[in-house]
Amino acid sequence: MPLFRPNIDGMTGYVPGEQPLAGEKVIKLNTNENPYAPSPAAMSVLGGLDSERLRRYSHPTARAFRETVAGVLDVPAEWVLPGNGSDDLLTMIFRAGTEPGRSAAYPVPTYTLYRTLAEIQDAEVAEVPFDEDFHLPVDGLVSARAAVTLVAHPNAPSGTAMPRARLEALAEGVSGLLVVDEAYVDFADHHALDLARSRENVVVLRTLSKGYSLAGLRLGFAVGNPAILDGLMKVKDSYNVGSVPCAVGAAAFADQAYHRECVERVKASRATLAGDLAGLGFRVWPSAANFLFVRPPDGEAGRLYECLKERGILIRYFNRPPLADKLRITIGTDEQNAELVREIVSIRAGAGDG
Ligand code: PMP
Repeated sequence: MPLFRPNIDGMTGYVPGEQPLAGEKVIKLNTNENPYAPSPAAMSVLGGLDSERLRRYSHPTARAFRETVAGVLDVPAEWVLPGNGSDDLLTMIFRAGTEPGRSAAYPVPTYTLYRTLAEIQDAEVAEVPFDEDFHLPVDGLVSARAAVTLVAHPNAPSGTAMPRARLEALAEGVSGLLVVDEAYVDFADHHALDLARSRENVVVLRTLSKGYSLAGLRLGFAVGNPAILDGLMKVKDSYNVGSVPCAVGAAAFADQAYHRECVERVKASRATLAGDLAGLGFRVWPSAANFLFVRPPDGEAGRLYECLKERGILIRYFNRPPLADKLRITIGTDEQNAELVREIVSIRAGAGDG
């Protein structure tokens, strides 16, 4: 008897970006973390946690965090479902919504975890290509008639925003659930929460990993009507959010002033880095996220990635079409970005090679 189901044996599994060991000296611009520290209010809650909090199980729906989110976003608490990162919410969605005969559809290239989760369910996927400018292919997605349609807004790895009108048209046209994955929306100019509020088939996913500098905490949430969230609740792990993320995350989310300040700094640095790279002849896609998607002038993305890595700068390279001539670069501090640009100039001048 094989140990696993045939679809599990046949799949590769999700490959996360490199995580250097603590203490390794690198400029880490490869997994879209925020370069600034988490909210001081959140850190002080972390420092003050008592042992009693850890002795007990966490609240099954992370009540303190759920209520904080509901208050800030002005939705009822029943419209918010916390998860162990937004990946956990994606897992719940695929578990509850897909199986053989109940497919998933999404535009590509996008977050590759969508395909991994569909493979786990043995569900068919409709991967509808974006064009060069990453316009949302609404018609192609609608005609896939999938049980679950997913759109990352802004998209990864392109960083591009999905126009409101297209998201609305998609919500109107799809036959099943529409998931708007807003992992990067804190750095964008518009969001789709009102779609989740007004449409019975729309759920929006958010995370504290990027905009709140808490990738290691593992905390995200879904916003949608209770009919959707009740279904997801049935398939979630019993205590999917620990008491530490719940308490720390509530303090971080309540500190909107600090959050906005960090986001504004990242957006200002994004504009500077985009200008610098464009000045070096890179094609730079318009980014609404905390990273840039770029094509080096010679298309030698793999070589540039390797050279930067040798010099202690990690960025993200996806060695597969149509991404193999492009790079995804997380926005760091202004100093880190300037160092990146200096190294690119030096590599391209051939200085320091060999
Ligand atoms: N959605 C997208 C598009 C992402 O890039 C990521 C981060 N890899 C996630 C969701 C998941 O983020 P997290 O689980 O840290 O909330």
